Amino acid sequence: MDNSYKKRMQKKKAYIDSRIEAANIDKGIIVLLTGNGKGKSSSAMGMICRALGYDLKVGLVRFLKGAQDTGEDLFLNNHPNVTTALMESGFTWDTQDKEMDIQKALETWKKAKVFLQDPAIDLVVIDELTYMINYGYLDELSILKLLINRPQNQHVVITGRAASKGLIEASDTVSEIKDVKHAFRNNIRAQKGIDY
Ligand code: ATP
Ligand code: MG
Repeated sequence: MDNSYKKRMQKKKAYIDSRIEAANIDKGIIVLLTGNGKGKSSSAMGMICRALGYDLKVGLVRFLKGAQDTGEDLFLNNHPNVTTALMESGFTWDTQDKEMDIQKALETWKKAKVFLQDPAIDLVVIDELTYMINYGYLDELSILKLLINRPQNQHVVITGRAASKGLIEASDTVSEIKDVKHAFRNNIRAQKGIDY
């Protein structure tokens, strides 16, 4: 047996154990998933799945939901622990009606607000929120205020490209998913069960 390897691993284990011991705080966190690569919304749905496994209560808010139902919408639709609020409006280039988009964004945010003030909801997922801020449909400051003042143990997952500085600062965990390759660029259309 390589002695120096064993020593190195012992040292590593001691360090990891001490880090695990130091991390003894429980609190609701904000997870922000941004970047241009595929995997943001589907990761958020994965966390919903984790939460439901422990019988937690979930509030799901989806901005920019297009006409096509996603597999997870169909799957979660009648789940007793999931309450959903949808902004039934696609991207601006589809609707081409800014005033209506703003109105729908505000209506949807009102429902998000209810979730973010309800301590009985353990996890709030706000899908594609970043665009609402970047397009100027919703006011960043009032969103941040609500996030900061939410119930202490409530977790929030936010997705969308090009997250604003304010959202990044308010979040506890931030991942930027990098676009290395995407099948679409090889003319492969969105695939059921993978892309929607
Ligand atoms: P997913 O829902 O698959 O996790 P996402 O939330 O990271 O994707 P969005 O920007 O919300 O990405 O786009 C959703 C749809 O666009 C999905 O069908 C996804 O496969 C596709 N998509 C995501 N990134 C890219 C990309 N870089 N090029 C082309 N299509 C993409
Ligand atoms: Mg998405």
